[in-house]
Amino acid sequence: MILHEKLSLIYDSVLRRNAGEMEFHQAVREVLESIGPVLGKHPEYAESKIIERICEPERQIIFRVPWVDDRGEVQINRGFRVEFNSALGPYKGGLRFHPSVYLGIVKFLGFEQIFKNSLTGLPIGGGKGGSDFDPKGRSDREVMNFCQSFMTELYRHIGEHTDVPAGDIGVGGREIGYLFGQYKRITNRYESGVLTGKGLVYGGAQVRTEATGYGCAFFVQEMLKARGTSFDGKRVVVSGSGNVAIYTIEKVQQLGGLVVACSDSSGHVIDEKGVDLDLLKQVKQVERARLDVYAARRGGQAVFVPGRSVWEVPCEVAMPSATQNEITGADAAFLVAGGCVAVGEGANMPTTPEGIKIFLDAGVAFAPGKAANAGGVATSALEMQQNASRDSWTFEYSERRLQEIMQDIHTRCLQTADEYGMPGNYVASANIDGFRKVADAMLALGV
Ligand code: GLU
Repeated sequence: MILHEKLSLIYDSVLRRNAGEMEFHQAVREVLESIGPVLGKHPEYAESKIIERICEPERQIIFRVPWVDDRGEVQINRGFRVEFNSALGPYKGGLRFHPSVYLGIVKFLGFEQIFKNSLTGLPIGGGKGGSDFDPKGRSDREVMNFCQSFMTELYRHIGEHTDVPAGDIGVGGREIGYLFGQYKRITNRYESGVLTGKGLVYGGAQVRTEATGYGCAFFVQEMLKARGTSFDGKRVVVSGSGNVAIYTIEKVQQLGGLVVACSDSSGHVIDEKGVDLDLLKQVKQVERARLDVYAARRGGQAVFVPGRSVWEVPCEVAMPSATQNEITGADAAFLVAGGCVAVGEGANMPTTPEGIKIFLDAGVAFAPGKAANAGGVATSALEMQQNASRDSWTFEYSERRLQEIMQDIHTRCLQTADEYGMPGNYVASANIDGFRKVADAMLALGV
């Protein structure tokens, strides 16, 4: 897509100032491609250089994380926290522990988070962090050592009114527990609202664990409803088998969909009668094993396909819930040819720009991650609310709030798409809707 002239100059300068950070470039470009029409209606945004300012993080922190492994050897990793935008509230966004993490990945995720968090309608700014630490194959004690060292630097930069990290790939309940413990130890403050995704016994919120997956399923349910259909009996493929994927599968099954495949970094399983969720949870969450173990225990019912993308399995609804750029243009073309009618991005930016174009051109209902996976961070904001009021809500109430938030995002996306003459284009409308609120807040707050 051609960029509006002014936006093209801004994009060139983003490329120059952030050399080599391809994922960040991709995330910025996608937003800039959508907001051209907004600038026509709001010249004040360009006058105060809102877009140039949004593309530059408010603060970027890079630090050394030394720790001792089980053999007594010293290991050194790199830690990051990018505090991207605080116009709407304290910086908010997860931490990713994965060997692929470098500044460009953290910036892409932090940039996406600004607009996603804005879309939730809740008072949270955008940030993201992480490390190139690989938790795979590490013992509990090594993970604890790493988390304690990571927090020994991070604690001085965060706080319930400043910056509130949570989980992402490689960071779940176990890691948040170790991180929170170290924050409390160092600061002598039981500051529950400094991290979200906490365990239920020490300040966590009901439905936070399930929220990203449930929220994504709710969003897709709304898109299907808007097209006069539902999940009922639909063939669904969910990539990944981490937290997002597992609770996407759970809610899709509750809503009547048939999930026939999921994946991990070793390959994918096809289970035509429907994924056995209890077995999947046992293998992935309890044993932290690979999917071949799932297939072996399924008594010949499931096939494990090593080393291949799950996007070679045809489906009516695709829910990419693993990682960025996992659906290529070729995958998208294959899915469209196989009768795919809806895509809900549970992961952040899992579809390449070529893939998105193919889906949109084919008239597929396509929910970008910013909208579809906003339920996770929205429920984090609900966790902050409960922490601030020293309260805790029931599962039922929390799930109802999550569903309302997802319905509200869906409705606003549809309205904005109509307002800008692009009916049904959730990519453009999520970007426009998320952007407008941040831009207005930045205008109000001055330079
Ligand atoms: N990592 C999640 C996301 O990508 C959740 C962040 C949070 O809860 O702060 O939105």
